[in-house]
Amino acid sequence: MIPYGRQEVLEEDIDAVIDVLRSGLLTQGPTVPSFEKTIAEYSGAAHAVAVNSATSALHIACLALGLGPGDLLWTSPITFVASANCARYCGAEIDFVDIDLSSYNISIDALKRKLLAAEQHGRLPKIVVPVHLCGLSCDMEELSALSKRYGFKVLEDASHAIGGSYRKSRIGSCAFSDVTVFSFHPVKIITSIEGGMALTNDQELADRMAVLRTHGITRDRSKMTTPVDELWYYEQIELGFNYRMSDVQAALGISQSKRINNYVKKRNQLAHRYDKLLVSLPFETPPRTPDCYSAFHLYVIRLIPGKGPMMNKRNQLFNRLREAGVGVNLHYIPVHLQPYYRCLGFGPGDFPEAERYFQEALTLPLFPTMERKEQDFIVANLEKAALQ
Ligand SMILES: *Cc1c(COP(=O)(O)O)cnc(C)c1O
Repeated sequence: MIPYGRQEVLEEDIDAVIDVLRSGLLTQGPTVPSFEKTIAEYSGAAHAVAVNSATSALHIACLALGLGPGDLLWTSPITFVASANCARYCGAEIDFVDIDLSSYNISIDALKRKLLAAEQHGRLPKIVVPVHLCGLSCDMEELSALSKRYGFKVLEDASHAIGGSYRKSRIGSCAFSDVTVFSFHPVKIITSIEGGMALTNDQELADRMAVLRTHGITRDRSKMTTPVDELWYYEQIELGFNYRMSDVQAALGISQSKRINNYVKKRNQLAHRYDKLLVSLPFETPPRTPDCYSAFHLYVIRLIPGKGPMMNKRNQLFNRLREAGVGVNLHYIPVHLQPYYRCLGFGPGDFPEAERYFQEALTLPLFPTMERKEQDFIVANLEKAALQ
């Protein structure tokens, strides 16, 4: 089976990990700060806080941005559940904004309409979480203008998007947001096994997230309520968590980060090759926007309804491809249709564009080490499955 994604671990990655294992400093050593510095410099943000997953990063970012009971967070229904769950961890409420079928990202028009209505009802969101689906940036300038007009914070879920850019800024620079989150799960662009990072240009937010990552404990005198002039003294100033990344993981992350540009370039080349190979087939190839360089974490095609015998039969197509050894996937089941969110009152029909996308979407395998013959095999099977 050709998987939909596959990480690459080179000998140099293994050596970097072994060096840390031999150093004796397995966690809370110098390697995590060094990984933070590497990613902050790469992205162009002033500060970075490494944690054990993007999910943890979203959680502490929400807390640092002041999200709590009674508050509201909005995100896209077409995302991994973590983009929404972070609100629930904070006791806040969640709502969704439908997607735009020309980008598969949050629809700016739908957002504008919803904000206008929310203002009238006095129920504006505290945070909006744009998700750069498949690695393609949302329209951040529009979002940032709306955040100023309506007073919400912007938390970018860039789990798919390290190495991509929007206009002249790298994703992660936080040029149009308060915080940006990356994931280093093995299926993402680069990996630290499990891992995530929150980037920001705001020193206060960075400090707050760093404290929340480690139990709410500080050794910074200026943050203590009653500083004691002893070396052993520390204070727990709020309720935090153990969300630390280990130095062993950070070593892998640093080693992998040298290849972000190559990986993203390779992903773009393969995506363009897919576009060409699929040109005569009845599928919608992934959307592009002129001012974005996608990280191409995922290559999602859509079945065009009514075109060809299989076109209303995504599931059948999916099964045929899996049987043929092509590890197709589906990103994502709309979050609002998950049983947990249905219990909160959401249901079918709430976000029609997202639900339509869900009926038609199919993720083809894409990873930087994919060979041409693998790609040809995938396309040949897709053609066979779609036209027979
Ligand atoms: C993978 C992913 C996450 C969660 O990442 P973890 O590092 O596994 O916690 C969050 N949001 C999106 C969009 C993702 O794809």
